[in-house]
Amino acid sequence: MFNKKEQFFCAFCRSRRKISLKKNVTFVEGTYCVLAAILLSLLFWQNFDVRILFIFGILLAITEVILQMRWRLAISCPYCGFDPVLYKKNKVLTAQRIKNHLERRKKDPHALFSKNFYLDLPRPQAPPPPTNIGTVKKGKKLDLSL
Ligand SMILES: [Zn+2]
Repeated sequence: MFNKKEQFFCAFCRSRRKISLKKNVTFVEGTYCVLAAILLSLLFWQNFDVRILFIFGILLAITEVILQMRWRLAISCPYCGFDPVLYKKNKVLTAQRIKNHLERRKKDPHALFSKNFYLDLPRPQAPPPPTNIGTVKKGKKLDLSL
């Protein structure tokens, strides 16, 4: 209902993605936890009890953990396997995971029917051509003998 998804592009394969970027509990989820705690209190003890605060805390903690896990699982790209959170911590491990993901994808026949079959992956760049061709260093004589 209040799960607003945002659209963005993967930083590695440039695939269009649409996920919920909500990472923490907001006022709306807190309100739901209060209502659920009141409901559980009425269900178990038939009136308001002090233990409602304990139930509210547990529900709030569970909601926070679920939101964090959902965000963490959704943030990595399903097409190329790029994980921006891991990239900030360990670039080598990220590159290895992307290679593994792409190898698995290459072997999987279902990948042919994927929405993003053609990934626009960054290609390794060739080294720039040497710029000193045809130039002579200052102070050296140009040897044109055959
Ligand atoms: Zn990607």
